[in-house]
Amino acid sequence: MTDKRDYYEVLDVDRSATEKDLKNAFRRLARRFHPDRSEEPDAENKFKEIQEAYAVLSDAEKRAHYDRFGHDGPSGNPFGGFSGGGFNINLEDLLGGDFFSGFFGGGRSRSRERKGSDILVRHSIEMATVITGSEESIELDLPVECSTCNGTGAKDGKTKTCGTCQGTGRVRVRQQIGPFVNEVVQECRDCGGTGSIIESPCGDCSGRGHRIEAKSIKFNVPPGAEHGTRLRLRGQGQPAERGRGSNGDLLIEIEVLTHPWFERNGSDLIMSLPLGYPDLVLGTKVTIDHIDGKKLDIVIPPRSSAGHTLEIKKRGLPHMRRSGRGDVVVLLKLHVPEKISKADKKQLDSMKTSLNPSDQLQRILDDAADRRANE
Ligand SMILES: [Zn+2]
Ligand SMILES: [Zn+2]
Repeated sequence: MTDKRDYYEVLDVDRSATEKDLKNAFRRLARRFHPDRSEEPDAENKFKEIQEAYAVLSDAEKRAHYDRFGHDGPSGNPFGGFSGGGFNINLEDLLGGDFFSGFFGGGRSRSRERKGSDILVRHSIEMATVITGSEESIELDLPVECSTCNGTGAKDGKTKTCGTCQGTGRVRVRQQIGPFVNEVVQECRDCGGTGSIIESPCGDCSGRGHRIEAKSIKFNVPPGAEHGTRLRLRGQGQPAERGRGSNGDLLIEIEVLTHPWFERNGSDLIMSLPLGYPDLVLGTKVTIDHIDGKKLDIVIPPRSSAGHTLEIKKRGLPHMRRSGRGDVVVLLKLHVPEKISKADKKQLDSMKTSLNPSDQLQRILDDAADRRANE
């Protein structure tokens, strides 16, 4: 029998773990126990154990074998080939460039296959566009791979292998730390980690490997899009340096323009509605052109108060992540005219006794004063 721990236990996953679960578990643990990084006790042995477990479980055939026979397969140790430490795992792919960048001289990525940068542009839409969403098309000046040199930046596409690093993009450097001599791997300075040297730069792109070209970009704005929503168009960004790696992405940030009277609160639309005193007291119906292209009827019931709100259900903007629409919220306001005609003034005066609360208040106070005087 072996005293090896169960591979599933090592990776802390259950036996039904998917390929993705395994990968995530491995990433998490490898980052924690990588001997160059970890301060955990016994990190190196733990890391070996994790590597071995992942090497076996991530290989469908080996996993099936392990599920059936465990560590003690019919041939003794069916995974004998792994115990020596030679695991067929690409740690850089699994853990990502950032994890290793620290080993290769700080912030610069050591990878020869580096992705181009993302490009961010802003695009404005009317609030009405949010109702239906839309297919938009914009013209942008974007960097594209230079076709003359295939993005290599070299004249006629000709590069020569870097002699310093023999094309690997990396060099081993001996470092003396106190009494210890350490050998570390660093990015090759002569070729910038690309492994190749440009003999003479491409005249069309001055050796940059890309050119600026006007491009027509089409994309869909989803219904309910919010201000600041970012749409990601994969591979439409900056080409990778010297054509070695994938393009970055193009990010389009949606800017929703303000509306003359609607204010947005998520999927609700808020507006204020100024009304005359008679309309507030007697009630009325106001119809406006709505941004959904239809008419919006706002029914103000009799005896409404300024400062109160009315909700018109499901006439707001679409919800972004579920079906249906928000509401229109109408804030009632009292409109006070700047000028009043003599005739209006007379009419208002005549209403004072019955409708003016301050007059009523005065009558109550007068009555109370009378009662006191009579006591
Ligand atoms: Zn070029
Ligand atoms: Zn080099």
